[in-house]
Formats: sequence, C-alpha cells, structure tokens
Amino acid sequence: MNDHSLDSPGEAPVRLRRWLAPRLLDWFRLHQRDLPWRWDRDPYRIWVSEVMLQQTQVATVTAYFERFLARFPTLADLAHADEQEVLRLWEGLGYYRRARHLLQAARLLHARHGGTFPADPEALRDVPGLGDYTRNAVLSQAFDLRLPILEANSIRVLSRLFARTEDPRTTTARRWLWQAAEALLPTREVGDFNQALMELGALVCTPEKPNCPTCPLRSRCQAHASGQPEAFPRRTPPTPPTEVREAGVVIRRGEQVLLVQRPAEADRWASMWEFPHGQLHEGESHEQAAVRLAGERTGLTIRLGGELQTIRHGVTRFRITLVCFEAEYESGEFVAGYYHRAVWIAPEELQAYPVSSPQRRLARSLAQTNRQRRLF
Ligand code: SF4
Repeated sequence: MNDHSLDSPGEAPVRLRRWLAPRLLDWFRLHQRDLPWRWDRDPYRIWVSEVMLQQTQVATVTAYFERFLARFPTLADLAHADEQEVLRLWEGLGYYRRARHLLQAARLLHARHGGTFPADPEALRDVPGLGDYTRNAVLSQAFDLRLPILEANSIRVLSRLFARTEDPRTTTARRWLWQAAEALLPTREVGDFNQALMELGALVCTPEKPNCPTCPLRSRCQAHASGQPEAFPRRTPPTPPTEVREAGVVIRRGEQVLLVQRPAEADRWASMWEFPHGQLHEGESHEQAAVRLAGERTGLTIRLGGELQTIRHGVTRFRITLVCFEAEYESGEFVAGYYHRAVWIAPEELQAYPVSSPQRRLARSLAQTNRQRRLF
C-alpha cells in the first residue's frame, strides 16, 4: 500500500493522516468564511447552526441564525419556547420538521441534563433530529471529541481524494466514506478539521468546477491526477419533478378571512397555518376543486369568486401549481377533520401565524390587493 491509498480506510496510513491535517488546517485558518457560529464553542449555538444548515445555503442561514439566537439565546430558553413561535421564526427556511425536532430535543436535553448539552455521544443517541452527522459535528466542534462527519461537501472531497467512483448514496460507499472520514481525523483540532473538510468542498472542491490549482490537497489527490476531478464521485441524474395541480381558497366573512391549521402529523408544514387548499381530482377544474375542498376540509359552504393568484413552487421532487380563489362564506360551522383548528382573523393578523413560504406569498398578495374592502 502506498502512503496515500485508502483501500481499507480503517487502516489509513498514519503518514497520510499526518500529511493531510496540517495542510487542511492551515488552509482553513487563511480562507474560512467569517460566519457567526464559528467564533465560539457553545454547543447549543453550533447545534442550531448545524440544523439550520441542513439542506440550506449558508447565505440564507446567517440572518435566521442571528434572529433565532437573539430570541432563544440558550438551550433553556428554547426548551421553554412555544412551538408556534419557533415555527414563525423558522418561516422561510423550509424543512420545518427540523425546527420541531430542535424544540423537542431542547426540551428533552433540558429535562435530562438541566439545560446543558452533554459532551457524550451516547447521551445523544435517542434525541430527535440528532443524527450521526449533527451529533458528531456539534461534539467535535464544541468539545474537540474525535468524531467524524460526513455531508455533501466532505463526501465530495473524500471521494475525489481517493478517486472513488461509486454513487455515495449506496450502502457500501457510505460505509467506506464513514471509515475514511474517521481514519483521517487528527488527534487534536478535530472540530476545525471537520469544518475545514466541509469548507474546502464548499469553496474549492465544488461539484462542477473544482479549483484544483488552489487546493492544498492537490499533490495527493487521485481525482486531480486523473485529469477529470469533476467525474468523481459518480452522480445519478436527478429524477424529473412530478407536476401537482392544486386549488386553494381564501374564504371571507365580512372583514375576516379563514385560516386553518395543518395536522401535527402532516408530512410537511405540520402544525403550520394556511388557507384551505389541496390537490385536484382527475378531470376536475380548479374552480370545482376549490368548492369541493372548502366543503370537505372546513365544512363550510362558500360562494366562489374570482382567481386571486397562481403560485408555483417546488417541494422536494414535486413541482406544485396552486391556483387560489377568493370566496365568500355562505353557511356552516368549521368542522375539524383534516384541519385541526380554524380561526377567523383580520388579514393584518396573518403576520402572527407561522405559514409556509407559498402561503406567505398568498397572504402578501391579499395585503397588496385591497385587504380592507369587501371583495364582492
Ligand atoms: S485537488 Fe481538486 S479534486 Fe482534489 S480535493 Fe482538491 S479541489 Fe478537489
């Protein structure tokens, strides 16, 4: 085995590890971005940042992070928070399950450990939302525990360093990658090393155009040596999105509109608020669906008005087109079923409720049209 092969990552040559860490750490000290969660070792702050950064760009997270920490500066503050306020602060970041897990986890840790974040991976095994990556990222950065991390950027760097061709989503590739990430860890500055690996992937070893001439690892990078670094690792083309057609309805009664709360167990946007909406049936028009959905999901009879707005948005692999109508309440009382709760509120009160981004766009469009006047 030469000193930079890693066919069996558990037996990573010590020389490679000793070569890699100082180079990566020197590069990190010079080139890391100035991010608000980088400059202290508070596990709670690191944890919040890591959860927000899942599936979300750094540029988007920064403002949310500062607002969230200003409102909930400690784990104890978050543990005592109201879920609706947490969701409202999270609004626009997406993947709201992360926010609910963060809150559940804060309550659990507060109950078990009195508001401190335990420096022990075993104590965190059954905590909601704390998977291997997040747990190891927090513990390595806050307490310098020798724990590896693996996420999109570090996966790319490791795969290229060793010219691994497998799709990283396969079980075999994942196992190899975890072993490699662990085998390469230094004995000190583990948190910085983990961050450096991710930062190199984010800034230099990018998916389409890795900037190999500026990379501190290029002299031992097998993908660079191959002349086609961007070919590693193999990527399966994404599945084309599925088109979904939806109708929604803003029901007015006098100066108020009806807002309904999604079920706590919904797959997405659980416990958040919205205007009633749902998918079209086969052969149904948007207008027919709007009337049907109002009846099925709220128990109310309505008189449908004109089209208010069409909103196009993507959720995971779905591309959704939502056509929203105005409607006037005619009769009936709200019946809890799909929606658990309903409120009649003045449009200006919408600001206080956590809603999804497309629903916030709809609320803003309501505000832009004449929110004070009656529509019919
Ligand atoms: S040399 Fe190029 S391919 Fe290799 S790790 Fe650096 S940027 Fe990535």
